Amino acid sequence: MKTFVATKNLGKLQDLHDLFRGTEIELDTYPLYAEPIEGETSYADNAALKARALYQQLQQAGVRGAVIADDSGLEVAALGGRPGVLSSRYQGPNATWPARREALLTELKEVPAELREAKFCCAIMLVLDGGAELASWGEVSGSIAAGEHGKFGFGYDPIFFYPPANKTFAELDENEKNRVSHRGRAAEALLTLLRARV
Ligand code: IMP
Repeated sequence: MKTFVATKNLGKLQDLHDLFRGTEIELDTYPLYAEPIEGETSYADNAALKARALYQQLQQAGVRGAVIADDSGLEVAALGGRPGVLSSRYQGPNATWPARREALLTELKEVPAELREAKFCCAIMLVLDGGAELASWGEVSGSIAAGEHGKFGFGYDPIFFYPPANKTFAELDENEKNRVSHRGRAAEALLTLLRARV
């Protein structure tokens, strides 16, 4: 099933390619994808917004296929769940990733290790060719490390410590991360929903 991805985030795209490789969801990109402006309240709403936007753009261009979109973010308990849905815009839309991670570490400077709980959340929406929609959810708990560790991944991975592995997400290789990540869990749930339809 040819499935266009509604994202311009290369880190996410890499995760999704690895997650769906060898499954019935064959990912493709649509270079002309025009991203809608995301809302500020719900991952699920944003995933739906992006998926429906690309689906409509493909229809207008006469291109057939399914569409998949993910909306995700990092919720830090000591910050009341921030940056959350606004994770990609934390410190402003043009901030660099090292600057965002540094700012988050600075915000948590006085917070002791046992109060640094955080979770990554991910909502996925799949719009099938024909318009039917499937939505799924995944999350993973961890904490914010005292500093950066690891060179893999993207975004907040170097400061997201995952206790079962005793490593940050940036110290896990792509396969290890995908097995346990919010996106991996949402992808698994989506495949279960998709397979239950046929
Ligand atoms: P959005 O889904 O496009 O709103 O972006 C969510 C933001 O949360 C991304 O830009 C990432 O920086 C961050 N994020 C989501 N998933 C991950 C992940 O797996 N690793 C690191 N950062 C992530």
